[in-house]
Amino acid sequence: MVTTSMSERTAPMTFAVINPATGAEVGTHPIHTGADIAERLSQARLAQRWWADQGFAGRKRIMTRWIRWLAAHCEEIYELGHQETARPIADVQMEFVAGLEDVRWTAAHARRVLAPRRVSPGLAMLNFAADVSHEPLGVIGLITPWNVPIYTVLSGMACALAAGNAVIVKPSELSAGAGAFVVESFYRANPDVPAGLVSHVTGLGETGAALCRSGVDKLAFTGSVPTGRRVMAACAERLTPVVLELGGKDATIVATDADLDAAAKAVVWGAFFNAGQACVGVERVYVVREVRDRFLGLVHGYAEQVTAGIEDGASYGPMITPGQLETVKRHIDAALSAGATALLGGHDSVRPPYVHPVVLVDVPEDNAAVTEETFGPILLINTVTDVDEAIARANGTAFGLGSSVFSRRHGATIARRLRAGGVTVNAVLSFVGMPSVPFGGVGESGFGRFHGEDGLREFTYARSTVRKRFALGPEVQEFPRTAEQYDVVRQMIRVRYERRLRKQK
Ligand code: NAD
Repeated sequence: MVTTSMSERTAPMTFAVINPATGAEVGTHPIHTGADIAERLSQARLAQRWWADQGFAGRKRIMTRWIRWLAAHCEEIYELGHQETARPIADVQMEFVAGLEDVRWTAAHARRVLAPRRVSPGLAMLNFAADVSHEPLGVIGLITPWNVPIYTVLSGMACALAAGNAVIVKPSELSAGAGAFVVESFYRANPDVPAGLVSHVTGLGETGAALCRSGVDKLAFTGSVPTGRRVMAACAERLTPVVLELGGKDATIVATDADLDAAAKAVVWGAFFNAGQACVGVERVYVVREVRDRFLGLVHGYAEQVTAGIEDGASYGPMITPGQLETVKRHIDAALSAGATALLGGHDSVRPPYVHPVVLVDVPEDNAAVTEETFGPILLINTVTDVDEAIARANGTAFGLGSSVFSRRHGATIARRLRAGGVTVNAVLSFVGMPSVPFGGVGESGFGRFHGEDGLREFTYARSTVRKRFALGPEVQEFPRTAEQYDVVRQMIRVRYERRLRKQK
């Protein structure tokens, strides 16, 4: 059973992380309070000034040492990630590599993206020089989920640190050890860095809420939509800006000219890796009628080879909490009682703590299984008459995190019509592994971006610095206002707007 347990025997209060497959206790952690966060915040403010003074090159050097240390200790982190969430080592490894790539990319590109650059001051202010820079915000609060517990901590820390900020991390209570390990690894690699530049607090939702209200300069949250709403409300009390990376209901479109075998293989992996507990997991497929039967045959063939379990060779592990199991069960029940057909699995697939692969076909579009995030190993495949219908349905939920399309000739055209933060053509969710592209959603999948240039800028504020180089003669920003000044501005308006407009006609 997957639970957190609290103990009041010791002070401070603690909670345990339990392996969801074996029930074994993996570790205990303190429940930190607002007072603990306040202490870390004042230390972080001091350390952040030192960090900002290191400049892009200094920060890159330190972050590179961090990556090297992590790479050399990868087995330790794989084991911890595996024990806490019972996911196969291969899944842990995949998120670890993606996280390392984000650290490497942000450290290498921060100067290019954020350093001051000269821009035109415009005709009206041509006696000025103008620079735009992106300055660190100060201290970032980072609240992370359990399902990619290493990647979300690494990726958030990478953007925040490369942009010159300090960070306080609150990892999920279900994977607190992995989160703490990643934060502490920064100091193991760099023992000389001032204390408090990066720190973590552990605890349940209340600790996260306290971080939202602590006065950090920005709160970057990754997690579910309901918690995201609470985070935004708590942050509003101090007008703390937020990044929200929330859930999804990602759709894949299979067109008539798709490589059906590649599409079937990809959606089976996209739906079932991590037991479907992935924000960008493939939850829905829209296949055009002409190729539907062949596609279903291929999906069935690949999906029946997928196995759930803890033993070596299992494709994926257990559901993380009883609550998550209930959601999956509810969606299977809702879809089947509304007339969907089970291509693979069904009610019997739910055998706690595992849910064995389920593929359901022709589920009504207004069914909870289609409209809500399932976050479990269920793949829904619906038939459409053409690509236009597929696009309308893919865009038809409140979410907009990822989407994908399989089409040999029209992939790019279809991709442009999909409302999602990340779109993949002829593969699924590949943008997640690319540190150079922004990652984030629209609609109820949230707003703001991690990684890529936008991800770096997300953790800064834009500052304009303008410098007067010489006096123009009649100054518009001085009293008294003169007739000469009026004439000069009048003349300028004539040259810049009236004549140009006349030419355009
Ligand atoms: P969750 O929302 O239950 O918890 C996420 C974090 O929020 C945890 O650290 C938790 O302790 C904390 N928290 C809980 N209540 C809080 C409160 N009131 N104030 C502040 N913090 C609070 O999510 P989860 O179950 O850990 O993760 C699964 C969800 O995360 C899914 O919906 C998934 O789609 C989403 N997710 C999104 C992304 C993305 O990048 N868009 C990535 C991974 C997971």
